[in-house]
Amino acid sequence: MQNTRIILIGAGIGGLTAGLALQRRGFKVSVYEQAAQLGEVGAGLTLSPNATHALEAIGLGPDLAKLASRPARQAVLHYRTGDVLVDQERGDLPKKQYGADYYQIHRADLHDMLARAVQANDPTAIHLGHTFLGLTQNSDTVDVVFKNGARVTGDVVIGCDGIKSEVRAQLWGRVPPRFTGNIAWRGLVPMYRLPPGFKIEPASAAAVGHKHSMARYLIRNGTMLNYVAFAEKSGWETESWSVRSEVSELLEEFDDWHPSFKTFLAATPKDLCFKWAIHDRDPLPQWTKGRVSLLGDAAHPMLPFLGMGAATGIEDAVVLARAFQQAKSVAEALLRYENARRERTTFIQMASRAAQERLQGGKADGYTKKEHKNEEFLGLFSYNPATVAV
Ligand SMILES: Cc1cc2nc3c(=O)[nH]c(=O)nc-3n(C[C@H](O)[C@H](O)[C@H](O)COP(=O)(O)OP(=O)(O)OC[C@H]3O[C@@H](n4cnc5c(N)ncnc54)[C@H](O)[C@@H]3O)c2cc1C
Repeated sequence: MQNTRIILIGAGIGGLTAGLALQRRGFKVSVYEQAAQLGEVGAGLTLSPNATHALEAIGLGPDLAKLASRPARQAVLHYRTGDVLVDQERGDLPKKQYGADYYQIHRADLHDMLARAVQANDPTAIHLGHTFLGLTQNSDTVDVVFKNGARVTGDVVIGCDGIKSEVRAQLWGRVPPRFTGNIAWRGLVPMYRLPPGFKIEPASAAAVGHKHSMARYLIRNGTMLNYVAFAEKSGWETESWSVRSEVSELLEEFDDWHPSFKTFLAATPKDLCFKWAIHDRDPLPQWTKGRVSLLGDAAHPMLPFLGMGAATGIEDAVVLARAFQQAKSVAEALLRYENARRERTTFIQMASRAAQERLQGGKADGYTKKEHKNEEFLGLFSYNPATVAV
């Protein structure tokens, strides 16, 4: 198994984590990415203890401790009054409770640390400018063709190519992702743009509203505020992280929100206000076909209302590498991987849909700890992909 030629399609957070996890267990990987340059969008990402466990298991603990933020507290806020409805301790507590920290990080910082680690292990591992076009497999190998004319043969292919996965389309048919009726605006606001004395307290919070919700937290040592603001809205359905929006459009949408929100929305740099339409897919009854399987959003895209999309891709990656180390054949490895992962990710896909109603169902006035059935309440933090049975 150690000589298995493993091809990963997509160098997002899922693909790179899989690459690194497999390298750490002694496998050689080749990662093919369509983009000409490596990179991630300017936005934040929450790494709950389940994801932190995975990243620590592949050696990124010290980098995370240096670059990620660890909020002391996390709150749920009322959209109109700004009042704290629920206040939770974070800080040292997640490590005590779950064995790993609760972090928030700039996506580009995580992506960069993964890419550097993969390239440090093998400078030839990542192939940019390779758009996956198609594959054919037989009982021994898989042949892959790229848009630039390149062809490679491997023993196994893992599609880590995101919600619009072409690998998934080739395995299970071409079904376009479905628009969910939600638009999200995301922004990164340098703290110096906020009015003097304006405080972000606590450092991490979600706000519940009526057909609207928001998450906001500080990253990069408290120098930047990351937010993502959701609105239920139809008429615009572009699934892309790079569509610009006017700050005025965002302010109009959140007009009845408390000034403690509108102040930082208004401070978004003009060229850094983006919006995109949130899409979803139903869970797949099976991921693997022969020597090809899926990982991350390609396998189980989910709504962002539990903040578990990247975290579950990171979990997949570590479990995949463990499955390859334990198995005696590619078929056994992929079976162990899918059996260990599909039920949990299907559950989180469905729970992420249900979370929309909790956050945007107009419940702010009566929202108490009892209503706060978030990802921690669902038990998602207590999963450790580095030790779970595979
Ligand atoms: C508003 C919002 C907030 C979120 N917040 C969080 C959060 O706080 N915590 C969290 O855990 N998750 C969060 N998520 C989810 C998270 O962003 C995604 O689940 C995660 O980025 C998926 O990673 P991935 O590597 O599977 O896919 P992607 O990030 O989509 O990466 C896919 C890669 O494959 C490449 N690719 C695509 N097609 C091809 C092809 N044909 N050939 C070659 N390469 C290809 C792409 O260029 C890309 O590099 C959020 C999502 C949204 C929408």
